[in-house]
Order: sequence, then structure tokens, then C-alpha cells
Amino acid sequence: MRDFAIARRRMVEEQVSARGVKDKRVLDAMLKVPRHKFVEEALEGKAYQDAPLPIGEKQTISQPYMVAVMSEALALKGSEKVLEVGTGSGYQAAILALLADRVFSLERIPALARRARKVLDGCGFSKVNIRLADGTHGWQDMAPFDAILVTAGAPEVPRDYLDQLAIGGCLVIPVGDRSSQVLMRITRIGEQEYREEQLMGCRFVPLIGNHGWHESA
Ligand code: SAM
Repeated sequence: MRDFAIARRRMVEEQVSARGVKDKRVLDAMLKVPRHKFVEEALEGKAYQDAPLPIGEKQTISQPYMVAVMSEALALKGSEKVLEVGTGSGYQAAILALLADRVFSLERIPALARRARKVLDGCGFSKVNIRLADGTHGWQDMAPFDAILVTAGAPEVPRDYLDQLAIGGCLVIPVGDRSSQVLMRITRIGEQEYREEQLMGCRFVPLIGNHGWHESA
């Protein structure tokens, strides 16, 4: 356990702080969440490496640095209601749970949603709400959201995300082709007014669904 805590501190110092992530709340959250619990037991020893890792079902847990950049980009203060699309392992949802008030997370693959639920409960993050659904429609019943974080690459920004953002809220989403994307931050500044920023290049697994990629492509 102590070794994991040491590995976690090194991860935060060498992969996250050293590359310019400054939000102390994000750094503290990454020091707290036991990332090794969110990967398969056989990969525990690699959990704090500077890389994404497979989590089964051809999906991945994102690289720690990417989790940090996306979390920082949301500029959360603690009182927000956040939607994550792509629960995967549940790791990013756990980080969000420490940064915001309420977290809603959508996953389309049943086995991943089930495992994430179990791990999140085991780590004390029962307050994260997970729903099995095509997340390209957002989560209409729970909207509006102060922040929406999409952890899979979209061909374009689904309209529902823009509609489900609170005014003043922001959406962080990788947009591009199936193998590489640009991480975009879109802030809703008025009823029909949005500001767009390109944050960095990135590579995510595809967002698959009605307003995303087709599964078979
Ligand atoms: N946030 C995750 C974590 O911390 O482990 C990593 C997410 S992984 C890079 C992308 C996830 O998005 C996969 O679990 C995939 O099944 C999911 N996904 C893809 N398309 C989706 C959709 N339309 N709705 C919900 N989840 C989707």
C-alpha cells in the first residue's frame, strides 16, 4: 500500500505537475484516488505509469496526465453538477467526485459499468451515479450540467451536450477522426452563445453511438 502511495506521488510530481498542471485541487485528488484499484489486478504494477492501460472490452483507462488536463480544464470549485460520458474504469469519475458536488457518468458497455460501480463503491465513491446508456444523448433528466467531460473521441460535438450545459458551464471533449483528435473546451456564455477553445492534440478510443461513430466502422 505504501509503495502505491509513493508511486502515486511520483506520478503527480513527474507526469502531472512537471508538465504544467497547477490546479491544487486536481493534484490533491490525484494523490488521493488509488488508481491501481481501477485496473485489472495483473496490471496493478503499471497503474502509475505514464500511459493509458487496457481495461477490457477494447477500452482504456486514460493516461494520468490526460485525466489531469481534462479535470483542470473544467475549473471546478466544488459545488458543481458534472456529467462524464465514458465511465470506463471509473477512475476519472472518482477524481471528479472529489472536485465537484454531484457526478453523473454514462457508459455503453455493461461489463465496464458493472465493474466501475463495484470499484467506486469499494473506494468510497458511492455518490457517483452511473447509467448504462448511449451517452451521445447526454443525460436529459439530470440537465443542466455545470460541466460535461467526454472521455471518448467524437466525430463532432453532439447537439445534446450543448443544450444540456448550464450558462457559464463548459464542455471538454476530444473531437476529430477515429484515431486522433483535438481536445476542445466549449463554454456556454449565453442562451445561444458558445466560446470554443482548442486545448491540445489527443488520442481517445471512439465515442460510439447515435451521435458518435458507428460501432462497425
Ligand atoms: N473515463 C474512463 C476512465 O477513467 O477509465 C476512460 C474512458 S475510455 C477512454 C472511453 C469510454 O467511453 C469507454 O469505456 C467506452 O465504452 C465509453 N464510450 C464510448 N462511446 C460511448 C457512448 N456513446 N456512451 C457512453 N460511453 C461510451
